[in-house]
Amino acid sequence: MRQVILVTGSSRGIGGATALMAARRGYAVCINYHSNAAAAERLRAQIVAEGGEAIAVQADVGVEADVLRLFTTIDEELGVLTALVNNVGVLEQQGKLADMSVARLKRVFDTNILSYFLCSREAVRRMSTARGGQGGAIVNVSSGASRHGGGNVYVDYAASKGAVDVLTLGLSKEVGGEGIRVNCVRPGIIYTDIHASGGDPGRVDKLASTVPMQRGGQPEEIAETILWLLSPQASYVSGAIVDAGGAR
Ligand code: NAP
Repeated sequence: MRQVILVTGSSRGIGGATALMAARRGYAVCINYHSNAAAAERLRAQIVAEGGEAIAVQADVGVEADVLRLFTTIDEELGVLTALVNNVGVLEQQGKLADMSVARLKRVFDTNILSYFLCSREAVRRMSTARGGQGGAIVNVSSGASRHGGGNVYVDYAASKGAVDVLTLGLSKEVGGEGIRVNCVRPGIIYTDIHASGGDPGRVDKLASTVPMQRGGQPEEIAETILWLLSPQASYVSGAIVDAGGAR
């Protein structure tokens, strides 16, 4: 069966590594990005140059109209969706809750929570065997922050990841009998650009000594975990939250 995957927020970082690895394993890939068209196009071109199939679609996945357009584009250009990776995630300048504006909280919750609900809804509508679909698999990207709470730096981000964990548990039960597996990966500290958005570009190296394995992780190490959870090798795994954080 043809495998078609959407990875949200996949022009760079963990999403980019996942999209590339998925293409190398035979998926037709939809790369999604917000504003960095050049990075998305570079990745699309690399996949095509390697003999894979990919499209790149701009969409703010925290906005319903954009999500509907994104999924319709996949329907028309790639065909039936079989895998969704809810990977998008943002964090803002480090700080305390007492100083957080409503605008900031809404940005973080819309991008990190609402998008996961909207994209999962659209995926389930297409995959569910109860709705005429062929089944599929969803992986949500959470964070170790949902365990430590993010106090003093980004409690909003950490709480949004708590919601992702709970979405995984609840949705996996809701669609378990409809041919859809839903799982979650909780990365530890990984070398990507996200730390610069929090105002702390050197965060991974700074925290590396607090990781029992004594190092930060690479995006490809998270991509491997995601691809395994999507694969037939994980056929009886659903509702799982897999920590990939070097034991931190
Ligand atoms: P990243 O390097 O900052 O990349 C973010 C990606 O999301 C980019 O492709 C960006 O697109 C896209 N994006 C941002 N807002 C978007 C929106 N509203 N709609 C669509 N796309 C949007 O992030 P990352 O570190 O790879 O993080 C990926 C996931 O892993 C996130 O859920 C994050 O919370 C989680 N995570 C990361 C770490 C870590 O240490 N890196 C640890 C734990 C969990 P543009 O290129 O267009 O801006």
